[in-house]
Amino acid sequence: MARSFESELTDLQEQGLLRRVRTFDSPQAILMKCDGREIINFSSNDYLGLADSDLLKTAAKTALDEFGSGSGSSRLVCGTLAPHAQLEAALARFKNTRAALSFSSGYAAAVGTLSALCHEGDVIILDKLCHASLIDGARLSGAFIRVFPHLHYDKLESHLKWARKSYPDARIVVATESVFSMDGDCSPLVPIVELKNRFDALLLLDEAHAIGVLGKNGRGLAFDQGVEKDVDIHMGTLSKALGAAGGYICGSQALVDFLINRARSFIYSTAPSPVVAAAAKAAVEFLQTSEGEQRRQLLWQNIQLMERELPRSIQDRTKYSSAILPLILGSSQRALAIADALLDEGFLVPAIRYPTVARDSARLRITLTATHSRDQISALCKTLNAIYAKL
Ligand code: PLP
Repeated sequence: MARSFESELTDLQEQGLLRRVRTFDSPQAILMKCDGREIINFSSNDYLGLADSDLLKTAAKTALDEFGSGSGSSRLVCGTLAPHAQLEAALARFKNTRAALSFSSGYAAAVGTLSALCHEGDVIILDKLCHASLIDGARLSGAFIRVFPHLHYDKLESHLKWARKSYPDARIVVATESVFSMDGDCSPLVPIVELKNRFDALLLLDEAHAIGVLGKNGRGLAFDQGVEKDVDIHMGTLSKALGAAGGYICGSQALVDFLINRARSFIYSTAPSPVVAAAAKAAVEFLQTSEGEQRRQLLWQNIQLMERELPRSIQDRTKYSSAILPLILGSSQRALAIADALLDEGFLVPAIRYPTVARDSARLRITLTATHSRDQISALCKTLNAIYAKL
């Protein structure tokens, strides 16, 4: 007899892997209302606190009045409205590329782009900790997939050697992240660039958690490390530090024209709402102002405060390179127990479990934003200390 949904759900429950959605009765902000309680949010990727800002709300409302809520069709039919074009022009200026293309999500950007770039006989090489969207895009492409252990560039080199020797004419794409979403560490990019140039491969860099956070004006890690010109395909999302929704690819005009013709998640999906495109454009422009840069600096002050205040016995590392601070706990049950205890004390910190991370590396994933107060950060550190002491 075929297995039922119920039996699969029971299995997940028994392994501590069942997920449920929780509904909030307030905007995406630091203080959120859930079941009539106010809780302090340390789980959001809204790193600059823009999602509920007047700036983005005004841009969205203006676009709503001018363009309505929906786009009506895919971009290639009649869905490209002025806010989409304006967002793409702003993104290309921001990333200093010839062109940009927006998608309905970062996931759609990754899946559509990798599956357009590569096919059977091509090769995609990924860091082991790459996000599911990159993995799914690679799988969908039908290309050979090779994975190198996290940041292990000797192995990347041997994969590239193998790929170029075995498939001299193949398109080879190295896909990786600048800030890893569940670990918060960064890729050193100079060695990757050297390798991809040596083996005539393309580099796709997902800056989902770096845009708005790293590099002057939040342009991302490639700018921070001075290799932005060597990244062939800049990918990212408008949904995290930019406080809106959607994904993007920035690069050459030929790349963007190619994706317009080949990326199925772009071609066969209704264009994102013009309201969201206008909000995202306002965020991209805000980052380039002195106020935007100040907001980014505030985020970094909070990250440094957390480094100082989180007890050494709890920290997995003493220096953080992004706004994502993982506390590795091992078992799912342990991570869930601590997340529940934190929630009882009024702090929302998610337990991240398999399959998002490896089975034995369940963790708490704390995210900081520019809008957390010093008191809120200190209170979380004290509460964590007390909970760990009781374990
Ligand atoms: N890439 C990374 C590294 C991510 O963490 C995410 C978001 O979860 C995505 C891509 C997908 O972006 P989006 O949420 O806009 O679909």
